Amino acid sequence: MRVISRIDLRQGLPSDLRAVLPRAALDVETALEAVRPICEDVRHRGVAALRELTARFDGVEIESTRVPREAVDRALDELDPAVRAALEESIRRARLVHREQRRPDVTTRVVPGGTVTERWVPVSRVGLYVPGGRAVYPSSVVMNVVPAQEAGVGSLAVTSPAQAEFGGLPHPAILAACGLLGVDEVYAVGGAQAVAMFAYGTEECAPAAMVTGPGNVYVAAAKRLLKGIIGIDAEAGPTEIAIIADRTADPVHVAADLISQAEHDVVAAAVLVTDSLELAEAVEKELPGQVNATRHAARITEALSGEQSGIVLVSDLDDAIEVANAYAAEHLEIQTAEPHRVAARIRNAGAIFIGPYSPVSLGDYLAGSNHVLPTGGCACHSSGLSVQTFLRGIHVVDYSREALAEAARHVCVLADAEDLPAHGAAIRARFDWKIPS
Ligand code: NAD
Repeated sequence: MRVISRIDLRQGLPSDLRAVLPRAALDVETALEAVRPICEDVRHRGVAALRELTARFDGVEIESTRVPREAVDRALDELDPAVRAALEESIRRARLVHREQRRPDVTTRVVPGGTVTERWVPVSRVGLYVPGGRAVYPSSVVMNVVPAQEAGVGSLAVTSPAQAEFGGLPHPAILAACGLLGVDEVYAVGGAQAVAMFAYGTEECAPAAMVTGPGNVYVAAAKRLLKGIIGIDAEAGPTEIAIIADRTADPVHVAADLISQAEHDVVAAAVLVTDSLELAEAVEKELPGQVNATRHAARITEALSGEQSGIVLVSDLDDAIEVANAYAAEHLEIQTAEPHRVAARIRNAGAIFIGPYSPVSLGDYLAGSNHVLPTGGCACHSSGLSVQTFLRGIHVVDYSREALAEAARHVCVLADAEDLPAHGAAIRARFDWKIPS
């Protein structure tokens, strides 16, 4: 039996390509039903609801949702020096990349005496979600906090699920990462309820203007539900990797990379798109041995054999590119003879990883790029987390009397055309109720 299923599109691509591509059975839309009552409960009962939901979903009783400052300091003191050094390097590289992302304010002189400036202003307070269900992600602390800090966000709170094993606190590695980054407002709350906590606020947590960060399907569903009440980044749900590979790719690398992302979650998606039957067969042969040799073999097997994963066979690289653009993967690796040429034709992906030495694992921790990326096809309209996520552009309009006089006639014509004469009147009032000529 194959570890991963095959979809054969060598006879040509169907018109509704997305319908035949691998897809998760539990999608965000379905999870919405589960998270709606959770969010309502937090809205009405605040901390009491959060404590009950934490007992139900995380199996631990907590006194308070707020993590004491001493717990963060202690976790940092006790952090393994090798993990500390790796996190520090991850932070350093992420800062290098994110610092350069900040767009300058731009002033455009539209006419003499008339300017429009786009001013970039950071969101005042953000809540950053760090997952902690099946795996713990101190790396996600880095990926959330660094762009928010580089954007100049003033008030920053991190939340991550309470862990029974650690007395109801988030995992110590997450607390230590917060300590390293100078974040001392931390909560022990996970899942949809954490998104609701930031959206509505509670007795212990002030509401935030925005929540960002990756999480499982319930976290993604809560973001979709509460968007509008709170700003969100993209829906960064269960991880996906797609790999475009041709016969030149190394099946050992391809199999290892598919497995590396399947390790995140039983609903994580791993998809290989190839025009080489030979490579597909070699990867299928390679997978069982590598899966069995790794620690989370059961979780990985479930993810690889699920409906969301598969090997898509296509007739040539043009079709592979079309499939990748239709799928809009969170992570897209390109392992072909000419990866840059293929990459230039990719329009939809959260992040692209070029050639044999840029695996997704590097991007997860240390490339300097961000690993909070859109999933579930959202990469066709959304971007991964960046400094820009935390900034709003405000247009500042500054016209002199002369510059307004010059525009007045056109404004009045358009106002009349839209049957909004009071708009035109607001101009004429400034010129003795006449349209200046
Ligand atoms: P998580 O913190 O996202 O979720 C754990 C929480 O889920 C629990 O605290 C609980 O409150 C809630 N939950 C669990 N079962 C529930 C249920 N039946 N109903 C309602 N709520 C429930 O941690 P996780 O589960 O390990 O998931 C982390 C996810 O983050 C993985 O899917 C991983 O692939 C993803 N991830 C994505 C990115 C990205 O950028 N897209 C990056 C890193 C991780």
